[in-house]
Amino acid sequence: MSLTNILNCLDKVTKTGQNAYKAICPCHAENTPSLTIKEDGNNIMCHCFGCGANGMEVVQALGLESSELFNESRKMAEKNQPGTVELEREQNRKFLDEVREQTKPLFDGCAVNLYLNKRGIKIIPNTIRFLPEYKQDGKYHPCLIARLDDKDGNRVSYKIIHLDNNGNKADVPIVKKTLPCERDTDGMAVRLFKYNGTLAVCEGIETALSYYNENKIACWALDNALNMKKFIVPMDVKNLLIIADMDSSFTGQAAAYELARRSAALIGKDGYQLERVNVILLLKWRGELSEMVDSGQKTDYLDYCND
Ligand SMILES: [Zn+2]
Repeated sequence: MSLTNILNCLDKVTKTGQNAYKAICPCHAENTPSLTIKEDGNNIMCHCFGCGANGMEVVQALGLESSELFNESRKMAEKNQPGTVELEREQNRKFLDEVREQTKPLFDGCAVNLYLNKRGIKIIPNTIRFLPEYKQDGKYHPCLIARLDDKDGNRVSYKIIHLDNNGNKADVPIVKKTLPCERDTDGMAVRLFKYNGTLAVCEGIETALSYYNENKIACWALDNALNMKKFIVPMDVKNLLIIADMDSSFTGQAAAYELARRSAALIGKDGYQLERVNVILLLKWRGELSEMVDSGQKTDYLDYCND
C-alpha cells in the first residue's frame, strides 16, 4: 500500500487523526515534525508547513516514484479524472485568496511592528503585512505575513510568523509556516524590496529586513536552505550578494555556495546581465566556532547586527 511505503521512509511519524499523520520533512532540515500526510481515499496529500514542500517533492526526496501518491483505485481511474495536483492547487488558491482578504497594512503598535522593532528593524516595506488572526493549536494568533513568489513573480503561497500581541513569537508548535502552495515552488522568494542592479538574498525574512536596514541594499528572503539552493537569479541582476546563514551543520553555507556556483555559470550567458556573484560569510561569530558546533547553534545576519 502506498501510504505505508511513504510512512516507512519518514522519521518521527505520529498519527494526528483518521488517515492523517505528521513526520519530519525530508525536504528541509528540521528537528520538529512539520510535514503533514493525509490520505483521502484515492490520493495521498503532503504539505510541509516548514518549507512548503508538496507530495511530489516529498516522494522525490525519499527516492520514491510519484505513483506512490496514488492508491490502486486512483491509478485505474486516472485517465478519467483531472490531476490530483491541479485539484489540490485550485483548492489552495481559493484558501490563499481568503487569507489575503484578511491582511492589513502595518500600523503603529501592531504585533508585527513590535516584533521587528525589537530586532532593530525600523524600515519595513509594504510587502510585509499584518494578519490579525490565524488559528494554530486551537487558538488565534496575530501574524506577520509575506508573499512567496515564483521565478516569474507569480504568487506561490504566503509565509506567516505567529506572534503574540506584545510582538513576541507565539507559543505554538510551528512559529513560521508556509501556507499551502498554488504552484511550483521553483525559484521561490519573498520579494521584499525592488532592486536596481544589485540584489542580496538570504534565508529568513527577518535577516533580509535586517540586512536592508543596515546596508540599504535590496534583499530578498528565500526562506530556507533548500530554496536557496534552487533559487533562480533574475536576468536583470548585475550584482548578486548571497548572505549565508552560518549553521554548525554547514547547511546554510553549503546552500549559499551552491547558489553562487550555479549563478556564476550564468555570467555572460543568454541575456543575463549578471557580472558579479559574492557569498557573504559572517566572520564575527557569537562565541567560538567550536562552541557553536558543539551546541548545534546557528547564527545569521540578524544575530550579527544585534550583537
Ligand atoms: Zn519541509
